[in-house]
Amino acid sequence: MPFSGLSERVAAIRETVGAAVKRGGHGQHVEIVAVTKTYGPEAVEAAWQAGLTTVGENRVQEALDKMAQVTVPVRWHLIGHLQRNKARHVERFDLVHSVDSVRLAQAVDEVGERRARPVPVLIQVNTTGEETKGGFSLTELADQVSVLGALGGLEVRGVMTMAPLGADEAMLRRAFRGAREAREVLQRHGLDAPELSMGMSGDFEVAVEEGATMIRLGTILFGARD
Ligand SMILES: *Cc1c(COP(=O)(O)O)cnc(C)c1O
Repeated sequence: MPFSGLSERVAAIRETVGAAVKRGGHGQHVEIVAVTKTYGPEAVEAAWQAGLTTVGENRVQEALDKMAQVTVPVRWHLIGHLQRNKARHVERFDLVHSVDSVRLAQAVDEVGERRARPVPVLIQVNTTGEETKGGFSLTELADQVSVLGALGGLEVRGVMTMAPLGADEAMLRRAFRGAREAREVLQRHGLDAPELSMGMSGDFEVAVEEGATMIRLGTILFGARD
């Protein structure tokens, strides 16, 4: 049986998350996004059987292929970089975590305007100055928040971040607190933006302590990817 023991792992993760919420003191609800990238449709089915109702994919085409092959009614989140010329595919997702530039926001906005229903998105931020990673810095976000907020085809639900690879705990906390500040920038602008998507298999405990409302877990659920 593929992914055996998944339910038990989910139960253990939920306990860890519950303890981290207590320690962190933010009192938030935490949703687990099961990251099924590189795994086949059977990983999506297994996630559903284990009580995980949201899956995350980082590539549009891989996600569309998988959507065509599963029957369980999971919610699909796009968590990876989206090219503007693929923006129309956001219609197939319940949430796009990775709006990392104004130009992409505008392309997604057009989709929302055209269908007359705003596209739910998170704004990806990179608050530690890591060169290789996309996303808004805090200064850029403060500069652009009125532009983002004025896009009627977008429903800005919050912020997403990825901590630098191999970061120590101090750096992790800096990255996650930066994302929380970014969410405050959105909220001060009047946006109803409750979500903080941060934390992966290696750092989700710290992320939850810092207020994560969505954690994106792959390896810890399904095993190492090739
Ligand atoms: C792959 C991926 C994850 C999950 O990473 P794990 O370390 O396997 O938990 C989370 N977020 C994004 C954006 C990813 O691409």
